[in-house]
Formats: sequence, C-alpha cells, structure tokens
Amino acid sequence: MSSEDIFKKIVSHAKEYGFIFPSSELYDGLGAVYDYGPNGVELKNNIKQYWWRSMTQMHENIVGVDSAIFMHPKIWKASGHVDAFNDPLIDNKDSKKRYRADVLIEDHIAKIEEKINKEIAKAKKRFGDSFNEEQFLATSERVKGYKQEMETIHQRFADLMNANDLAGLKSLIEELGIVCPISGTRNWTDVRQFNLMFATKMGSVSDDSDTIYLRPETAQGIFVNYLNVQKTNRMKIPFGIAQIGKAFRNEIVARQFIFRMREFEQMEMEFFCRPGTEMDWFNYWKEERMNWHLALGIPKEKYRYHDHEKLAHYANAATDIEFEFPFGFKELEGIHSRTDFDLKRHQEFSGKKIQYFDSEINESYTPYCVETSIGLDRTFLAVFSHAYKEETLSDGQTRTVLNLPKQLAPYKVSVLPLVNKDGLPEMARSIMNDLKFTMRTHYEEKDTIGKRYRRQDAIGTPYCITVDNDSLKDNSVTIRLRDTMQQERVAVDNIKTYIASH
Ligand code: ATP
Repeated sequence: MSSEDIFKKIVSHAKEYGFIFPSSELYDGLGAVYDYGPNGVELKNNIKQYWWRSMTQMHENIVGVDSAIFMHPKIWKASGHVDAFNDPLIDNKDSKKRYRADVLIEDHIAKIEEKINKEIAKAKKRFGDSFNEEQFLATSERVKGYKQEMETIHQRFADLMNANDLAGLKSLIEELGIVCPISGTRNWTDVRQFNLMFATKMGSVSDDSDTIYLRPETAQGIFVNYLNVQKTNRMKIPFGIAQIGKAFRNEIVARQFIFRMREFEQMEMEFFCRPGTEMDWFNYWKEERMNWHLALGIPKEKYRYHDHEKLAHYANAATDIEFEFPFGFKELEGIHSRTDFDLKRHQEFSGKKIQYFDSEINESYTPYCVETSIGLDRTFLAVFSHAYKEETLSDGQTRTVLNLPKQLAPYKVSVLPLVNKDGLPEMARSIMNDLKFTMRTHYEEKDTIGKRYRRQDAIGTPYCITVDNDSLKDNSVTIRLRDTMQQERVAVDNIKTYIASH
C-alpha cells in the first residue's frame, strides 16, 4: 500500500472512531480547522499531561502560566511578528493553486534524498549481508552526484531566504523545473510575502477600536509575564516557564490534516539562563526533548534532528526534531536559542526595565533564553499515525489496531460482561467502579465479545477485562492484552497489580 493510501486510511480511521472530525462538517467544513471527538480529546489531554508533568513536575525550576490569547497589539510589533512573520507564496496560473515557495523547493530537495534512499535499498538487495552502507555512500558516483546536487540547491535556497530575495526564489523554482502537482505546468506568478497573523478588532465602537491579533505563538505570553513570574514565585536563574495553549496562523497551504492547521495548540517552554551559558542549555534541551519523545516507546529511527541554516531573526542556534510522518520526515518540535532578543525588545517597547540581579556573580543582566516549542496536534498525529496498524492474524482474519503508548490511550481498560444477564453486568460494573478512580475505564455490553475486542483494538485500549460465568464462582476475570491478544485469568483483587506490571 502506498504511503498516501495509508495516510488516507489514518484520516478516515480518526473520524470513524471519534478521534478527529473536520470542523463545521455540517456546513462542508472549514479549511484546516478540526474538532477533536470523545476519544481524540482523551488522547490529546493525555499528551498534554505527559508534557506538562515532564516539564513542571520533573523539573523543580520550571513553573507554568496560562496567558490570554488576546494581547496588547504592541507585543507583536516588539516580537517582530507584524513586520516579519511572513511566508513566501506563489500561485500556479493554470491550476490557480497557491503554494509556499520555500516548501516547493524543500520538497524538491526531499525528492533527491528519496533517490539516494532508493539507491541504498537497491544496493542492499544486491550485496546482501556484505553490504556496507557507509562505504557505499562514500564511493557510489551516482549517490555522490545526488548529494552534491542537494547541497548546491540547499545553499542557494538558504542564501535567498536569508536575503529575503523573492525574485531569486522564483528563478530557483523555474531553474529546478518544479511543476505544479495539479496542473503539471511551470506557469508561476511572482513570489510575494504573506503575513500569517489573523487580525480582529477589540472595542465596541468600530471607529476607535484597536486592531489586535490572535496570537500566532504562545511564547510571547510567557515573555511578557517574565517579571511577574520571576518575582511572585521567587525564581532563580536558570529557570523555565511552560505554557500550553491555542495559537492561530493563516497558513497559505493547509493540506496535511492536523499537521498544518489554522487553529492549533502549542506546548512551549522558555528557559531563562545567564548570558554565555545558552549553548550549554541549548544542547541540554536538545537531548532532553529527544529523550521525552523516545520515552513513548516509538523507535528512534522515526526521529531525527534538523539543524537550521536560516536562523530566525531572534535565534543564535536552532534545531528541529523531525518525525517520519506517513508523508515523510517533517518538523515536530523546534528548539531555539533565542538570546535576549524577546526580553530586550519588550523592555524597549514597553519602557519597563526587564533585568535580573544574579547574586552569585553580583551582576544585573537581561537573561538569555532557550525555547522548546512543540505542536500538540502534530504530536497527536505522530503518535496516532505510528500506532495505526492493519494486521493479518494467524487464522487469516485481519484487524486494525492502534498500538498507542499505554499511558496515552484514551481508555486504559474496557470492562466487558460476556453476556448481558446472569449477574455478569453487575459484577463488571462493580469492577469498573473500583478501577475508575485510578484509570480511565470503559464499559460495554453490546455485541459479541469478538466485536467488542476489535472495537477496543481500533481505539487503542490496552486491556480488556472480560467477566464470564466462572467469574461469579472463582472471583476471577480474563484480561486480554491489545498488542499480543494474549489472555490470562486474573483474580479480581490482582487486576490493578496485573495492569501495572504488563
Ligand atoms: P513549519 O515550518 O512547519 O510551518 P514552524 O517552524 O513555523 O513550522 P514554529 O513556529 O517553530 O513552527 O512552531 C513550533 C511548533 O508548533 C512546530 O514545531 C509545530 O509542531 C507546531 N506548529 C506550527 N505551525 C503549526 C500549524 N499550522 N499547525 C499545527 N502545528 C503547528
């Protein structure tokens, strides 16, 4: 099955099983806006909690905030978003479709990388066990040619982006022979800059009301609260402030489901440190954040770092953690060393002093900052798409299963009376009522047990507890494991211990 087909299946599975619905579906939807259904909101909340706890509970020097979405319009002037939060867009005159010029070029580079991977796969097949990938990469003329081509395009691309050279970007697209995937033609418009912020008005009288923006990132709500938090919580540098919240971007191209939305959620943490120590903290957070991802049990081959060539106006180092989505490796999280840019700018624009007195060195300074910024919805998509499996069982039947990390699954257990009579529902409910204080529990008595197991597999419930006629006699149940489908008889009193250890 092609990766495109798999992705389509994932999207329809998300809808069919109550994870994600297109927004305003009754009215044919609203571009790149989505709603989370009953199972989706549980999975999403569990991801939030996993992040929040890892930040605020596991680090004594990280505290949280929940700042408002509406903020003073000057904040976005100070942060640089009014002037520079742009994407270069380009239209194809034949299909009338709009693209991001930078994405067209990045996709072109990714295609060359794919060719290299194909060469490796072919050679692996040819040489079998004796294949040495490193040696192959260093000696194959074809691969070396592709690498050279990639590097040349990369360099030109980075230079053009850094110089904000829109005409140059268009020329590069033309030179590379990039065609519109819809019309197949090279009939492009000029490249233009497009600001991604949504604007609205605040105030009841439209004439004197102010234009304000829906925040395009949550980070600024942290920076403008730096002094409040540092003082009220008596924080000592180094310390971090974490926040989870909505962000809004009027994305030019918003196709890939919840990968790129116009309304989405971010989980951001700004870590304030002494100037000169920022590269140590940058490296610390680079590693720490990768460990957070790996602790979910998803194989490390699915992740990679991508160091930035074009640094944002505020950064002196930046890397992305990329994940292999069904449509290839793409950014999941950004880690940026933002220097003292933001605090300095807010100091300048607000006229208020933002300084920290460091008693260890007897000096006042504007703290430097390392940011970790991850999309909640993108993390959802990463976890969900990796978990989606279609399996053929030993008896030839197929099943669809979500092998979600157990701590993230919408329900931890489902309690199922084998039949809907003879006192089994009562016993099942009593087990559920005991478990529900410590874990999210589901109960179902409709349909055959086989069908109920399949449904729980499809929403990723790790444990099914079946109450049968013997249960009434021996006070035991059958626990079925989602991933192996193994079943084991367990005494009711031991259910919690069993679940904790399997
Ligand atoms: P991209 O290059 O994919 O547009 P970005 O570099 O603009 O992303 P950042 O500004 O660094 O993204 O935002 C931090 C994180 O927020 C990203 O790593 C991503 O997970 C998430 N994010 C950004 N834009 C969106 C969006 N439109 N929809 C969903 N998540 C997003």
